[in-house]
Amino acid sequence: MGSRFDITVVAEDSVQAKQYINTAIKEIQRIESLISSWSKDSQTSLINNNAGITPIKVDKELFDLISRAIQISKLTDGAFDISYASMDKIWKFDDSMVEIPSNKEIEASVAKVGYSNIILDKDQSTVFLKLKGMKIGFGAIGKGYAADKAKKLLIAIGVDAGIINASGDMNTWGKQPDGSDWKVAITNPLNKNNAFALLPVINKAVVTSGNYEKYVVLGNKRYSHIIDPRTGYPSTGIVSVSVFAPKAELADALATSVFVMGIETGLNRINQLAGVECIIVDEQGKIHTSNHIKIDN
Ligand code: ADP
Ligand code: MG
Repeated sequence: MGSRFDITVVAEDSVQAKQYINTAIKEIQRIESLISSWSKDSQTSLINNNAGITPIKVDKELFDLISRAIQISKLTDGAFDISYASMDKIWKFDDSMVEIPSNKEIEASVAKVGYSNIILDKDQSTVFLKLKGMKIGFGAIGKGYAADKAKKLLIAIGVDAGIINASGDMNTWGKQPDGSDWKVAITNPLNKNNAFALLPVINKAVVTSGNYEKYVVLGNKRYSHIIDPRTGYPSTGIVSVSVFAPKAELADALATSVFVMGIETGLNRINQLAGVECIIVDEQGKIHTSNHIKIDN
């Protein structure tokens, strides 16, 4: 998935711990081969390569993941959209981009984006992208999903406690060997050495998504790698979003969505969801929180 995973388990001894960790790694690799858009023969690539041509039969697991992704698109008024992927061709966040793409290029790429053109057939278990050139990608939800699945599998084989950290997509369960809760430190990316909050994560997930690692600066403006699927322009104004939710998959997708929705709309939406909280750091380093998070000085 192009990102680092850290896996922590509580076990009797290091031999058993390593076995558990290897089991988790295998599960994550299995998911990667299902959802990767890089490997040419994944089911996801098959769907993409047949955009505008024909529906593709996929595993129930992938079908269900895509269905849930579409639900999140509806929940966020399209801020989150796995069909964002055709815009990856014009916005590049690897230093190869020297100027903003032209309006014409942006309009042409947005024309291929839209979750309503992802056609699902439950009976046939097929996925069809209606428009030629359309693409789906799981960059904003895949790591969270993998973290959830790895956690689920480890619990099923009897691991009492642990942490799956998929590059900032964290999932915890159980307690530390000394009986205390797992805690996560939230840092201000503009001042990385200082954590400003240390919060318990009890059998749930916290995901931090930031534009401090992947972004480009063009004409004095900082563009993040998260793109508004409705306009084709990268989001600006926010440097990091942390979302707490029962599952990493939802937290991951919502963290990305808040970037696109912006501070006010983002917090409003999060405040409507039971069991979901969020912390936003804006470009000025100011901290904004959802209703049930209180951070004192
Ligand atoms: P990170 O990978 O930094 O944790 P995210 O989880 O927010 O960040 O995922 C960002 C990735 O999601 C981008 O690199 C891109 O692949 C994809 N993406 C960008 N914009 C959107 C969007 N509006 N909806 C869904 N996926 C997106
Ligand atoms: Mg995300």
